[in-house]
Parts: sequence; C-alpha cells; structure tokens
Amino acid sequence: MQHNMQNEQDEYSKGMKLVISLTTKRARRDFVKEIMKVPGGENILDCIQCGVCTGSCPTRFAMDYSPMQIIKMIQLGMREKVLSSSTIWMCSDCYTCYTRCPQDINITSLMMSLKNLAMTENIVDNAKIKPKFHKAFFEVVNKYGRLHEPTLLAKILNKTDLGNLFHNANLGLRLFRKGKIGILPVKIKQTKDLTTILEKTSEEES
Ligand code: SF4
Ligand code: SF4
Repeated sequence: MQHNMQNEQDEYSKGMKLVISLTTKRARRDFVKEIMKVPGGENILDCIQCGVCTGSCPTRFAMDYSPMQIIKMIQLGMREKVLSSSTIWMCSDCYTCYTRCPQDINITSLMMSLKNLAMTENIVDNAKIKPKFHKAFFEVVNKYGRLHEPTLLAKILNKTDLGNLFHNANLGLRLFRKGKIGILPVKIKQTKDLTTILEKTSEEES
C-alpha cells in the first residue's frame, strides 16, 4: 500500500515537472481565476497537496488523475486536461474529501462545477465516460428503479483487469456479509420524479 502510494507520488512529481514547463503563466492565472469563481473553487490556492483527499477517495481506482492532482493541474492552468479527465465523472459526490480536507476545500462541489463546465463546453470524453459509468448507472436505475452496485460494477469494470476484479469481489463480499448490498437486484417501482429524470436524461443523450 505504502509502496503504491510512493510510486504514485513519484509519477505525480515527474508529470508535474513536465507540465510546469508546458503551461504558460497566463494560462495558469486565467484558469485559476475562472475556477475561483465557481462553487468549490473559491479557496483552491490554499491546497497544500497533503494528499488526504486522494487517500480518502473511494473511486480513486477508476480515475485517471487523483483529486489532489486535479487541484494541482488547475493551479497549473491545464484546463483541457482537467475538463476532459475521467476523474470529474468518476467522483461519486460522497463528500469524504471535503470533510477531511485540512484546508476546507470543497472538492465535491468543485468536481460538480468541473462537470458543468465540461458539459457546457462539450469537452466530454465520451469514449471514457459514457460507457464506463454514466451509461451503466442510467441503465441499472432505469431497469430496477434503484441502484444495484454489483450490476453497476459488472458493467463498468474492465474484465481484463483481474486485480481490480478480485479487489472488488472481496469488497463486495464484505459488504454483502454486513447486509449492505444484495447479490441479486431487487426491482422497485419508479417514482414519478425518477421517471421524469430518466426521461430527461434520455432526451439529452439522444
Ligand atoms: S485534502 Fe485539501 S489540502 Fe490536501 S491535497 Fe486535498 S485539496 Fe489539497
Ligand atoms: S467527493 Fe468525489 S473526489 Fe471526493 S472523496 Fe468522494 S468520490 Fe472522491
């Protein structure tokens, strides 16, 4: 675990050195200014890169950049890379990072703002996102009227990634033993509100 974190830290430092030389001062300043105006971005410059957000994030495994990296990339003006990253879409809005951040940075709101920006400007990497999570999420909720995590996971996991499969099978088993998830999905009647949301989403997708 510690070894993996060290590797991630090394790769991160190497990558950061490279991008610092690639981004201009102006691009950095403009993107930071832009982000400081959106919810969650107000105190982005206070980030001390402690990594608590990344270490706490339950969906880090599915992200291309960690939450901590996204913050640094914003500070470096890497607008396009940030807005086309899978990270902002893999964030499950769980608020763990925000509640633990020593600098009180609302990363959860920031991720939502970044999603909105990416959608508004059509900078959405469909190849990464739709098949991987949102499409699967929509299909599961549309079919069962509620989320069923094992079905969602089966849809989004890369079946050739055995490491992830075993890791998630273990986690799934533990959650099942504690009664947190059921192996088989249980279908419930959709509420009127949910049907409206799903219909609206279908319209936007088509
Ligand atoms: S927990 Fe807060 S201060 Fe630490 S890296 Fe994440 S955003 Fe920055
Ligand atoms: S809110 Fe998003 S980024 Fe923060 S810990 Fe949860 S999933 Fe990760």
